[in-house]
Amino acid sequence: MPRTRVDYATDQITVYRYCSYGCRYCYVWRNKLFAGRVMRGKYDPVEEARRYLGKTGRTIVVSFVSDPYPPEEDKKRLTRRVLEILCRSRNRVMVLTKNPVLALRDLDVMGQGDCWLGTTVITTHPWWHRVLEPRAPPPLNRLLALFRAREKGIHTWLSIEPIIPRVTDLDVIAHLAVELGIDYVVLGRYNYWKHISLPEAQYLRITEGGHEFLWLDANPTSEEELVQWYREHVPKTIDFLKEHGVKYHIKKELAKVLNNA
Ligand code: SF4
Repeated sequence: MPRTRVDYATDQITVYRYCSYGCRYCYVWRNKLFAGRVMRGKYDPVEEARRYLGKTGRTIVVSFVSDPYPPEEDKKRLTRRVLEILCRSRNRVMVLTKNPVLALRDLDVMGQGDCWLGTTVITTHPWWHRVLEPRAPPPLNRLLALFRAREKGIHTWLSIEPIIPRVTDLDVIAHLAVELGIDYVVLGRYNYWKHISLPEAQYLRITEGGHEFLWLDANPTSEEELVQWYREHVPKTIDFLKEHGVKYHIKKELAKVLNNA
């Protein structure tokens, strides 16, 4: 069974061995070793899910290294088959997808067990979204899909990772999380920024509806700048979530930065 090293889950199942959303900050497909392992993965996710029927107390993320709701899921329904099994087991299942809109059709299955529907949002700015995650549904659509799931009694969660200075509007995302009744928020740092280098140019101009935006370089200029930004902005978000009774988890790499302040 594939265990996971993240600190809020114990296990993970990768349903698809590729991801068509093409987020520019995604590290999975830049890490040749990791991508190679995913591509070579021989296991059948449905068989893998069956192995959890006799287990209890696990927290299984579906999926970390690719998205469980790519456009192909519309016809293949492979993730649905995995969830049909996992949601019958006595484990917590945490679905993480950039396309919770498509996942809404599986709420009937999710409602059969302890299954949480989650999405990642790192920015609500439309132009950042278009540049950084061009093939994924817009962030507000994702958040509204979680709201609809919550209305149907499904627990929802939000991953804000990677938090990128100047790109991630933490205060807006946190307000939306509260307004939309999201149950659980995970915050994570921008771990691989030195490798990812976003975007290549210092400034870009995007012409949209006759307007031009100046686009600042997304990458921090140094580790110190990143750390300073986190120490200034993340605690305010945590206070806000606490104040509104939203459960949250700070991933260990980010907690380390904050705790050493
Ligand atoms: S949806 Fe997730 S796995 Fe797919 S490219 Fe984006 S960050 Fe990477």
